[in-house]
Amino acid sequence: MTTYPDVQLYIDGAWRTSAAHLPVINPATEEVVGQVPVATSQDLDDAITAASKGFEVWGQTPPKERADLIRAATALLRERQDEIAYAITLEHGKPFPQAQAEVIRGCEFFEWDAGEALRTYGRVIPSAPGVKYVVHHQPIGPVAAFSPWNFPMSQPSRKVAGAVASGCSIILKAAEETPAGAHHIARAFHDVGLPAGVLNLVSGVPADISGHLISNDAIKLVAFTGSTAVGRSLTSLASDNMTPVLMELGGHAPVIVCEDTDVDAAALTSAVRAMRNAGQVCTSPTRFFVHESIFDRFLGVFTDRAAATVVGNGMDPGVEMGPLANERRVAALTAFVADAVDAGADLLTGGSRIGTTGYFFEPTVLANVPDDARIMTEEPFGPIAIVNPVESIDAAIEQANSLPYGLAAYGFTNRADYVDQMVERVEAGNLSINTLEASLPETPFGGVKSSGYGREGGAEGLHHYMVVKNVSHSISIV
Ligand code: NAD
Repeated sequence: MTTYPDVQLYIDGAWRTSAAHLPVINPATEEVVGQVPVATSQDLDDAITAASKGFEVWGQTPPKERADLIRAATALLRERQDEIAYAITLEHGKPFPQAQAEVIRGCEFFEWDAGEALRTYGRVIPSAPGVKYVVHHQPIGPVAAFSPWNFPMSQPSRKVAGAVASGCSIILKAAEETPAGAHHIARAFHDVGLPAGVLNLVSGVPADISGHLISNDAIKLVAFTGSTAVGRSLTSLASDNMTPVLMELGGHAPVIVCEDTDVDAAALTSAVRAMRNAGQVCTSPTRFFVHESIFDRFLGVFTDRAAATVVGNGMDPGVEMGPLANERRVAALTAFVADAVDAGADLLTGGSRIGTTGYFFEPTVLANVPDDARIMTEEPFGPIAIVNPVESIDAAIEQANSLPYGLAAYGFTNRADYVDQMVERVEAGNLSINTLEASLPETPFGGVKSSGYGREGGAEGLHHYMVVKNVSHSISIV
């Protein structure tokens, strides 16, 4: 097999080393597998200059050429699938087949946005003879983007695809814990001849980098995926220059399980999905509100399947769930469980760290969790599911909407009237019925309320990376 990549800064079309580095740690073994460079202020200034220069070139490049180049880079990423997936499993811990699938998902984001580059249509507004009103969509300019560690390939893909397809340049700061996906994206674009400065890659101390980049008025858009707390602070920084933001933030997704559903099928698919990526997914189904008439059966099947999850090193065949991404998550989840049990919740399975080496945590099911337990309002971001009984769909929808989050929500039912009520009343950017898939390249993804604003993917995906310009043109002077 291959080795972990030599991760460097990528600025103005050239790789750049750094005097200082941070270690990249394998969360399954706690071994150092690589290094990530710490950018200096000079590096960041150079990245801003490069992105400004890159935008002048790329913003004038025909959409067809942009799309062709994105597709060429994506073809390389597909060829390098196993090499990238191996690095992701090393740095993040997820099972190798899931890392392979994530690489393909990242490629699909690029391919979708490459197609959308050709469809950033404006429109002609009806007007009097001799007058034309034409609406244009134009790339917004250099973007500062920040992607998190839970999906090291597909998260940066979203940001780079949106920017590059729209004709923007981008400075990307990927998560320091998991820099391999972003490194490979930059490498692929470099190899196919992306003009210098269009894509720049930096890393280091997150708050230093975001503060430096966002305060510079050359940056015309801030795109961030991560926690609501950090998103709020970056939005506040951006407001100094009135810089628009694209924020994909936290969630705590409700699942409304109605009495008419196929209980076993719903419970089995839910238990698998709740443990996917060790629960470190912003759309992870976390709060199950189950009709009281099917509650016991749902809880039994769900708990048995969750407890049977094969946990281990993501490199080992058959493993379904790897470790948590870092030690902070182990401490956070341990505290959530202790608090819930203190508040009176039933701990059905799990609840503890596994072993002493690696950041492994047991698949955990909590039932009958009181509303005042912290985990009822704070996103667990780990392999913990809450399963509570409800007496009606009204009660379930009330619970679903009770938090400031509104990213993903789910329902299991075959009743059209229940679906209708969920569509009308559930506060979420993405509602999925009888499936726990919330986001595809071709569907718009994003939140409402404190889960952020703006959409990635779908026909809406490039909107945030573009500005609308209306041109009024009279043939004679009036
Ligand atoms: P965190 O809030 O410290 O960091 C989350 C991400 O934001 C990381 O990638 C980090 O590098 C980045 N970040 C942190 N401070 C930053 C700053 N000032 N400027 C720019 N980037 C910054 O939390 P964490 O302990 O790493 O992760 C736990 C929480 O993060 C979870 O509870 C979850 O809510 C959230 N999270 C969300 C997503 C998502 O997909 N929405 C992904 C990862 C983490």
